[in-house]
Amino acid sequence: MIRAARILDGRGHEVRQAGVVVDDSKIVRIDPHPKRADIDLGDRTLMPGGIDTHVHIGWHFDKNGRSNDDGTGETPEEYALFAAENAAATVRGGVTTVQSLGAAIDKTIREFSERNSLPMPRILTSVEQVTDSKLTPDQLREAVRRIKSEGADVVKIFASQSIRSGGGPTMSQEQMDAACGEAKKLGLRVAVHAHGPESVRRSVLAGCTSIEHGALLDQATLDFIAEHGTFFDPNIDLVFRNYFENKAHFIGIGNYTDEGFAQMQKAVPKALNVFQMGLETKGLKMVFGTDAVAGSHGRNFEELIYRVQKGGQDPMQAIISATSLAAESLGLGDRIGSIAPGYEADLIALDGDPLRDITALERVAFVMKGGRVVRFIPSAR
Ligand SMILES: [Zn+2]
Repeated sequence: MIRAARILDGRGHEVRQAGVVVDDSKIVRIDPHPKRADIDLGDRTLMPGGIDTHVHIGWHFDKNGRSNDDGTGETPEEYALFAAENAAATVRGGVTTVQSLGAAIDKTIREFSERNSLPMPRILTSVEQVTDSKLTPDQLREAVRRIKSEGADVVKIFASQSIRSGGGPTMSQEQMDAACGEAKKLGLRVAVHAHGPESVRRSVLAGCTSIEHGALLDQATLDFIAEHGTFFDPNIDLVFRNYFENKAHFIGIGNYTDEGFAQMQKAVPKALNVFQMGLETKGLKMVFGTDAVAGSHGRNFEELIYRVQKGGQDPMQAIISATSLAAESLGLGDRIGSIAPGYEADLIALDGDPLRDITALERVAFVMKGGRVVRFIPSAR
């Protein structure tokens, strides 16, 4: 039995002075009148662990302080441990599930995460990213089949350029139809990197699962996403701010040029505006995702705080977007993201009440993943 001053179930309900019964790795029930407690969290808030639908778990700063997303110039052992370090930071920061979009190293993290003996979040991965817009529809179908055979949970495809290159569309409708159609046939979800109206419309029409970024969208396209039930994962703060804060570690690599940074600066107010339009868009399923790269791991909740403080999102809705709704977008709505009978015991506790002060998300005092305590700071009282 874990007792806390308030429990948020991840679906919009709050229960005061209650307990959560956990048996082995699963939640048994919420007990509204707990008689005793094995873990007493005092005045803290207990809620489901956070779910970040877009990270890059292996991306790190190497020993020379440079951004490194694929282990180039490192031994496989070094690369794996950098990835494990990111995973540990993530779960200690209160995020118990991530979708990594994605690299081959993710599979190793996933394998070890399933052992549940190291501090690591659950992880879903795309294993690789489909970026080549010169691939024919047949070649795209073949790429999707290969990704499936590599054990991916999801396909990550680029339908537009990076925001650093302007964000224009790269894949045609025919190409998107081929990739998303083949994925659907194989039972794979598709997460699409897309910034502007054109690339997003094509992705939605092709039947993809989620739109990532969408920094250049307009109201008509947001309506279009909502009408089709496609999930939207806007990454509006952490990814940009982390690049700016750590510019010296990125500058000079690929499109991380002064021009690329200028494009990102311009995108920040646009992305915020899209998010605010999204809040007003009826039926739009906006989920929590950060696009965490090197420097961002463990800081995931900063994005959610920004969405509430700057974006004006209701705190309870923000928490739902990072728990039950995020779980639904990953096809795991019946397993994680809620405090309910039979769900995985992925729980976190915060110092304070996030409904009154969203910065409580920065004060993660307790983390349990799959019934195992990953972090526990004893409370003062
Ligand atoms: Zn990404």
